[in-house]
Amino acid sequence: MSYFTAASLDEALNVLREAKGKALIIAGATDLFLKGMPSQAVDIASLPELGMIVEEQDYLSVGAAVTHAAAASSPLIMVKAAALAEACAAVGSPQVRNLGTIGGNLVNAAPAADAAVALAALGAKAVLCDIDGRRRVEELGNLYAGYNQSRIDSSREIVLNLIFKTCQFNEGSAFARFASRRALSLPMVNVAARVGLENGVFAEVRLVAAPVKPAPTRLFKTEEALLGKEPNEETRQMVEELASAEVKVRGSLLRCSADYRRHLIGVLAGRVLMAAVRRVQDKEES
Ligand SMILES: Cc1cc2nc3c(=O)[nH]c(=O)nc-3n(C[C@H](O)[C@H](O)[C@H](O)COP(=O)(O)OP(=O)(O)OC[C@H]3O[C@@H](n4cnc5c(N)ncnc54)[C@H](O)[C@@H]3O)c2cc1C
Repeated sequence: MSYFTAASLDEALNVLREAKGKALIIAGATDLFLKGMPSQAVDIASLPELGMIVEEQDYLSVGAAVTHAAAASSPLIMVKAAALAEACAAVGSPQVRNLGTIGGNLVNAAPAADAAVALAALGAKAVLCDIDGRRRVEELGNLYAGYNQSRIDSSREIVLNLIFKTCQFNEGSAFARFASRRALSLPMVNVAARVGLENGVFAEVRLVAAPVKPAPTRLFKTEEALLGKEPNEETRQMVEELASAEVKVRGSLLRCSADYRRHLIGVLAGRVLMAAVRRVQDKEES
């Protein structure tokens, strides 16, 4: 096996180009090590440009090689994109969070990958660069080819960063998951929300649940029903019912039945919605 630690993005792209599809990008290796290491690995974990968390005007850029631990403890992410901080804090164990990256979480394409679900709720887009230096920006939903299958070919292109609008004064976000244990257990379900309030009613809602489809799935009908409604106990109950009615889920012998999963999605949808609302209200009161 050959292992190349890239010192720059150009160097990583050059090695990929010369390997003609035989080399693969590697970041924290927490997924790749289990799947089987490639014969040629190009390590991008320490590239400075992929490890940055930067706020520019109303947008946040999170480098693909930012680890879950770094994202979970970033003051910028905690304040401007709390759902992502909560999702990253829920991943695996301290060891996994110290190595596993946000880019790897996305490309591994597990249907209930925690960071990916939060990023989808925040409305993030991925910035990619291929071996010829061409850059493109993609909606997260376009990056999934099927369950555990990404459209990103890591022998030819690199995810550079994820960009999304930060939560403004009238906006909040939240993430929650349910698993059989609090650590080192993949979630039965995870749900994230981003809300915007105007004059005390919902003006904007993004509600994302997983695992429902291969990619984190927006609950469009539930979102739509919330617009113009006041956030209160009645709305939370409405969301619980609508969200679990909206999703078509599969059961898993390993994790839980389809009915239980549907029920959990409803409960968590209500919870994250109200948690996101509380974040807005906290800002208004402070
Ligand atoms: C014990 C354990 C517990 C876990 N618990 C959780 C959990 O609770 N929640 C959860 O969501 N995940 C969990 N995971 C999965 C894993 O830790 C995450 O998916 C992690 O974010 C993967 O990142 P990585 O940097 O380790 O990816 P790697 O293993 O390095 O790479 C994964 C894939 O992504 C590609 N890749 C990586 N970075 C890039 C890039 N920038 N551009 C292009 N391709 C890239 C690689 O080629 C590879 O195909 C767990 C894993 C383990 C081993």
